[in-house]
Amino acid sequence: MSADPACKEPGLLRPEIDRNRCEGKADCVAACPFEVFEVRLIDPVDRAALSLMGKLKSLAHRGKTAYTPNAAACQACGLCVTACPEKAIKLVRR
Ligand code: SF4
Repeated sequence: MSADPACKEPGLLRPEIDRNRCEGKADCVAACPFEVFEVRLIDPVDRAALSLMGKLKSLAHRGKTAYTPNAAACQACGLCVTACPEKAIKLVRR
């Protein structure tokens, strides 16, 4: 797959997910041209770190949340940031 012309220097940034905001809707999975994301059950250690509101939201969304198993492929195009309806993704320096 070819890179989006809007992409910046690869390898500089990676997506970071705010799990208290993420509702596992998978818009990021659909938006990312580089298959960085997957949506699956939240890890116990991540569940334990949620705020009270985050825990309630996680229950409501059956414990689904986004992970970035392929973060090294991120080209910093920003499509996931724009696509997330919960504003749960930001790009941070590696
Ligand atoms: S910025 Fe988001 S959509 Fe773009 S390559 Fe990185 S993870 Fe994928």
